[in-house]
Amino acid sequence: MLKGTLAYIGIGANLDDPPAQCRQAVERLSGVSGITLERVSSFYRTEPVIPESAGRKQRGELEKQNWFVNAAAEIRTVLSPRDLLKELQHIENSMGRIRTIAGGPRIIDLDLLLYGQEIYEEEGLTVPHPEMHRRLFVLEPLCEIASYLIHPVFGVSMRGLKDRLDDNKTVERI
Ligand code: ADP
Ligand code: MG
Repeated sequence: MLKGTLAYIGIGANLDDPPAQCRQAVERLSGVSGITLERVSSFYRTEPVIPESAGRKQRGELEKQNWFVNAAAEIRTVLSPRDLLKELQHIENSMGRIRTIAGGPRIIDLDLLLYGQEIYEEEGLTVPHPEMHRRLFVLEPLCEIASYLIHPVFGVSMRGLKDRLDDNKTVERI
């Protein structure tokens, strides 16, 4: 029996050289002690999604930003969700991410999408990721590597969530 929990990481970038940064993030992820990289999806070119919380001025800015490159990775880890999130943030920071507005341009974004079948609702950590089921740029790459995976809150597979989704944003495999 292999040790650790299967977890899924959402990867995204839209500044500088997005494919290179996504590749680098995957490489760094695989170098973290306590993490084994199992699978990585193809890379996808995706249209930016504006968060509902954005104000009118922000919306204008967000609409102008570059398209993203998104991917998903399957890892096996002995780290707790909290420690895993810390490692993800450490990679983001070490790659030079500067936090601006929510949904804004970024060098790299690493989100903890799923951690086994566990559900966490803590300060600064919600698992499954609270927006994942609404985003085609998350579900498309995730379905490529784990379409059968069940969302522990909704009891629906990734494929099922994707099929139900009404997201008209463009997501195309590179
Ligand atoms: P975005 O929502 O655009 O990805 P950030 O990457 O800046 O924005 O994340 C904002 C906050 O979301 C982080 O400070 C982090 O604590 C919190 N957060 C809560 N749950 C998660 C999760 N599952 N994965 C990643 N970040 C999370
Ligand atoms: Mg994030």
